[in-house]
Amino acid sequence: MRPFDYARAQDVSGVLDAGKIIAGGTNLLDLMKLGVETPERVVDITRLDLKRIEDFEGGLRIGALVSNSDLAVDDRIRRDYPVLSRALLSGASGQLRNMATTGGNLLQRTRCYYFQDVASPCNKREPGSGCRAIGGATRLHAILGASEHCIATHPSDMAVAMQALDASVEIEGAGGTRTVPLSEFYVLPGDRPDIETVLKPGELITAVILPAPPPGRQTYRKVRDRASYAFALVSVAGIVSVKDGVIEQAALAFGGVAPRPWRNLEVETALAGREPTRETFDEAADILLAEAEGQGGNDFKIPLLRRTFRAVLGELTQGA
Ligand code: SF4
Repeated sequence: MRPFDYARAQDVSGVLDAGKIIAGGTNLLDLMKLGVETPERVVDITRLDLKRIEDFEGGLRIGALVSNSDLAVDDRIRRDYPVLSRALLSGASGQLRNMATTGGNLLQRTRCYYFQDVASPCNKREPGSGCRAIGGATRLHAILGASEHCIATHPSDMAVAMQALDASVEIEGAGGTRTVPLSEFYVLPGDRPDIETVLKPGELITAVILPAPPPGRQTYRKVRDRASYAFALVSVAGIVSVKDGVIEQAALAFGGVAPRPWRNLEVETALAGREPTRETFDEAADILLAEAEGQGGNDFKIPLLRRTFRAVLGELTQGA
């Protein structure tokens, strides 16, 4: 690891533009050891007052430094946002969840093998150098939203649940505070896969806002190569309400399949007002997968996503 300066921030204004931000360090330290990240100065924000989960406009305001463990077991999260609790508990290991923070989880980098190998060309790590994944090992890679310059997936489970919950991200910068819907927070790779979010240099995530709990049942289902401590091959965060035998409202987000937590409102529109039958689910899945494209090693994700989608909808509507 290259030498770097270390500073500890006392307040938010002392962080902005002061260096590479570190909180739990569960992703950044790995990337520094691999030589993918080489900051000259890291600014430790763990002493900032961003560790509270507060009631906020009928929902919750989750401080950026709330750990993944604390968030998963919070009574309000377990009761009103179980999709989020489940997603958090399906991620990483207990030790990592104790260190990983809400803000850091949103900003974790892809686990594309070639991104983490500084000997491989990678447009995300070094714009214009090429993409070794295309034509390479693609088991973890995207089937939706990719570009000819990058086919990496976003690895977060938490963000997928937050996407289904219509969360927003509170950001502090030199110009003050702004709030960005999570649906607009991540940007697709296009020809600049090194740009992953709308965060500007010097800005800091201070909180995530959850709106009032949605009606209906919630679940998070994650399919992965082993039972724990593995990233999603495919995951589905689902929130579905059923009234008088028809689907009233559905919110669905997908992980492991795209460069950002994936949501397609046309899928939800196709489900609303319909009886929860296999035919309904398959028609909605056709919309979801209309533009899905495999890269060889990840072709299996297309039928796997269809089956997982159907299984989640079946679970959420059964007996309702
Ligand atoms: Fe880099 Fe993206 Fe290609 Fe992976 S898929 S090697 S992150 S450009």
